[in-house]
Amino acid sequence: MTLRLFDHHIHSDRSDGTVSLAERAKSVAVRPHGVSDHYPWRDKLPNEEAVKRYIDDATKVGLRVGIEYDLGVAPPLTRATHDALHYVIGAIHQIDLGGDWIRYDDAGAYVKGRTKTFSGVERFRDPALRSRILERTLEVVAEGIERDRIDILGHPTFSALQALGEPERIYPEEWQDRLITMCVQGGIAIEVNESYGVPHREFLVRASRRGATFSVGSDTHFDLKPLDRTEAMITAAELAHARFLSGARPVRSA
Ligand SMILES: [Zn+2]
Ligand SMILES: [Zn+2]
Repeated sequence: MTLRLFDHHIHSDRSDGTVSLAERAKSVAVRPHGVSDHYPWRDKLPNEEAVKRYIDDATKVGLRVGIEYDLGVAPPLTRATHDALHYVIGAIHQIDLGGDWIRYDDAGAYVKGRTKTFSGVERFRDPALRSRILERTLEVVAEGIERDRIDILGHPTFSALQALGEPERIYPEEWQDRLITMCVQGGIAIEVNESYGVPHREFLVRASRRGATFSVGSDTHFDLKPLDRTEAMITAAELAHARFLSGARPVRSA
């Protein structure tokens, strides 16, 4: 376990993870990390009061505490709660196309290797549907940056489309550039996500050339594992370790 960059994206049993905050606090000795549970999450993190308790409980055991804010779904946090978090990861898990919700769960299970097939393949081959998803993604990210003041874009380029493979074909270069521009101009770190293996190398190289900052996210829901994939992605895209966040939100002028 050589990579010592701060791991921002870790779940606990306060949302859909299996490990308690107390156990998470112990593994900080293995490598530096925070916790960032899903918000909102069913009966466990349903509202801002629950987020405040989560912040208190995680802080008490010495953890840095973030949140995985469900872009396009989560209600806005008050300024006080936002600022009490060490960082906010904004991530997309489903997308609303005019009332038609496209959920990414099946694609996610497939991408993570938990299922062998992805039944949505035929549907997502439709270029019109693909471009609607891509356009809506940019709108949702823009709202996350401007309204919700997210600090990190979690698993960028993960979507149901990722399950089709060939990210350079699925995500047009022009679209990637627009997403990267939004992150760079908004001062938002681009997450290198271990679980989904995103973003792909060309995206990271483009982002690096544009001066983006980055963030490590194992996105584990279980015991801490080595960041082998992340390390390989960082090496392949030649990302400088100095450009990675270390457990706190970036200082922004706005
Ligand atoms: Zn996520
Ligand atoms: Zn996550």
